[in-house]
Amino acid sequence: MIRTVDVAVIGGGLHGLSCALQLARRGASVAVLERHWIGRHASTANAGGVRALNRDRRELDLTLRALELWRNLADFLGEDCGFQQVGQIRIAETATEFAHETKRVNDLHQAGYMHEEILNSAALYAMLPSLSPHCFGASYAPGDGSADPHLTVNAYRRAAEKTGVLLFEGHGVNALASNGLEWRVDTDQGTFLAPSVVIAAGAWSAAVAGLAGENVPAGVKASMMTVTERVEDFSGPVIGCVGAALSLKQTRIGSLLIGGGIQGQADVGRERSRVDFHSLATGMKTPLRLFPQLACVRIARCWTGIEARTPDDLPIIGPSSRLSGIFYCYGFSGHGFALVPVTGSIIADMILGRTQADEKWSVKALRIERFERQTDERDR
Ligand SMILES: Cc1cc2nc3c(=O)[nH]c(=O)nc-3n(C[C@H](O)[C@H](O)[C@H](O)COP(=O)(O)OP(=O)(O)OC[C@H]3O[C@@H](n4cnc5c(N)ncnc54)[C@H](O)[C@@H]3O)c2cc1C
Repeated sequence: MIRTVDVAVIGGGLHGLSCALQLARRGASVAVLERHWIGRHASTANAGGVRALNRDRRELDLTLRALELWRNLADFLGEDCGFQQVGQIRIAETATEFAHETKRVNDLHQAGYMHEEILNSAALYAMLPSLSPHCFGASYAPGDGSADPHLTVNAYRRAAEKTGVLLFEGHGVNALASNGLEWRVDTDQGTFLAPSVVIAAGAWSAAVAGLAGENVPAGVKASMMTVTERVEDFSGPVIGCVGAALSLKQTRIGSLLIGGGIQGQADVGRERSRVDFHSLATGMKTPLRLFPQLACVRIARCWTGIEARTPDDLPIIGPSSRLSGIFYCYGFSGHGFALVPVTGSIIADMILGRTQADEKWSVKALRIERFERQTDERDR
């Protein structure tokens, strides 16, 4: 069976769903082709952090726009994604770290970005009274927060279906070919024809691009997450720190969710990743240093998730410069959950050509072109 649609989206993670939904709401016919099931990989394995705090400037405008959308996402999708605007904080444990954060936030303010503030030691301990007394202060973004990845996937899925998006689970894409007018997308269970194709296949995006003949960055990471038993009130901002990888938050049921980018081991070919207990033990020293009372709290479960990583840790969003009709939306390098509400709008604007998407969204710096010279040189 061959189906023809306006756009074929490869990958049924959150970014694929966001693109599909925005395209369909603008009137396009869209098929999402997912190898396993919707939300199989990073989109449900993540920590749900929604952070503008300490973002790279090249994706800051985008992130601030995404944050605005997160605040109204329940209305936009028709159901709750568990978004809570609890703020995010980055603790400085030394005077040097505090000076660094103070300068960084002052520079942001001078550039006109007011979403972060500096907390001196008194303000920090007023916010986190149970914090170990050795800390100097923090940077803080009150507009940040967190959401529930599973609720978010389900909400996007249902909103997409209601808007007419066709979701094809169990449809792994195994060939891509163009006749100059449209792409033929072959899957395990059928063929799709579409003038535009979005590659949103997470850590497998480079493999999918390879089917079309394009060589794109193929790095991956396998971040680890830990969830503890329920603890007493630990509510407040999502907690990170300047000198080590950490993201710590209390879930609605009272357990602590601890991550921040400590790495496990990925086997991309087999679509598996493993917890590295040595790294995990090292990583757990940070929350224990900040909150020594956690030493008696038991770990309930650990897991890892695989996701694409680019050489500069920024996503690739935009058209292929070599293959007409191919658009990339991948490489979120460990912080793509926060961007989900905005990426779909950008890709939809680009494909449907209704606005000058690069100017509207300030995303020119995120195009694939930034890596092409390096790739060409490597291939020579
Ligand atoms: C442990 C962990 C914690 C994280 N914490 C945060 C956080 O707190 N905040 C934040 O902003 N971000 C976080 N992230 C990052 C975030 O999860 C990702 O950036 C985001 O989910 C990427 O979504 P995606 O749709 O691009 O990829 P995925 O969700 O991986 O979706 C890609 C989909 O493509 C499918 N696919 C692959 N190949 C094919 C093929 N050939 N044919 C069809 N389908 C295919 C896969 O099966 C998969 O379902 C975290 C990531 C991890 C792993």
